[in-house]
Amino acid sequence: MGAELFEVKEFVKNWKAELKSAVAAGRAAGRKPPTLTIIQVGNNPASTKYVDNKIKDCKEVGIQVDLFRIPEDSGIDQAGLEDIVYNCETNGLLIQLPLPDYLDADKALEYTSIWKDVDGFMPGSPYNPATAKGIIKFLEGRNLGDGSGKNVLVIGRSKIVGKPVAKMLLDRNWTVTVAHSKSSDLRELLLGKQLIICAVGKAKFLDLRQVPAGCTVIDVGTNFVDGKLVGDCWNAENALDDVRYTPVPGGVGLLTRAALLDNVVEAWNHENL
Ligand code: NAP
Repeated sequence: MGAELFEVKEFVKNWKAELKSAVAAGRAAGRKPPTLTIIQVGNNPASTKYVDNKIKDCKEVGIQVDLFRIPEDSGIDQAGLEDIVYNCETNGLLIQLPLPDYLDADKALEYTSIWKDVDGFMPGSPYNPATAKGIIKFLEGRNLGDGSGKNVLVIGRSKIVGKPVAKMLLDRNWTVTVAHSKSSDLRELLLGKQLIICAVGKAKFLDLRQVPAGCTVIDVGTNFVDGKLVGDCWNAENALDDVRYTPVPGGVGLLTRAALLDNVVEAWNHENL
């Protein structure tokens, strides 16, 4: 039989419905809609798809989007980018990555308030980065929020996934081990874990047959193999029956998208304080 899929679709549907109701209640009380400004420079097809999805999600819950889609040959420079960031009147602002090499998103974000940094990338941002936030919210919703007496392995230590998710788990009393490219004997590190978060970005990285009984695996990876989107985990069909894992596609990507909307609504609520 093998490992079981740990579905997130229903969870995300309910989360978005809650956000939609919160926005509708604010609007009924006479508030302006929440706004998100998205800045995209260039026409990287993957970025364009991500931005289009964000616009669609925002529409669904009642968030208004201001999109700056700037062609790379427009002559925009760092000062021009900073000017746009500085002059944005909006609740949330994000710069879609990657930017062309000659532009620096972190530097540009210094020209806005941390309260608008809904990606949670600025030092001192009040928001958690969307992927980490989405994973934690899902775990909490599935009774895996409190890690007292339990062990988790986070594989990957990036600024946008591994590090923030490890910190958020530690804050929830999980005993956290973080693995990275310089770690040795990953197989050994898998032992005794009730939860594994795999955020590496390599297809067939984590063989689910090696995962201990009863473990939950959150597959963050997105990899394209022969034009098909796959995660970091494989061999589910030969894994233990009581292992469960989130699917790719239709897993962490959906959680990330919902968490961004949540951050925008948080930014909008902060404006009202
Ligand atoms: P990243 O910045 O490239 O980080 C990858 C991490 O994996 C690094 O910390 C690296 O270690 C570690 N690593 C590489 N080889 C390893 C090995 N052999 N053993 C243990 N660790 C190893 O990537 P990221 O931004 O965190 O993203 C990770 C994956 O998640 C990518 O596929 C990305 O596309 C996906 N992702 C998906 C979503 C979503 O919404 N679905 C969101 C964000 C990211 P070092 O630090 O030592 O280099």
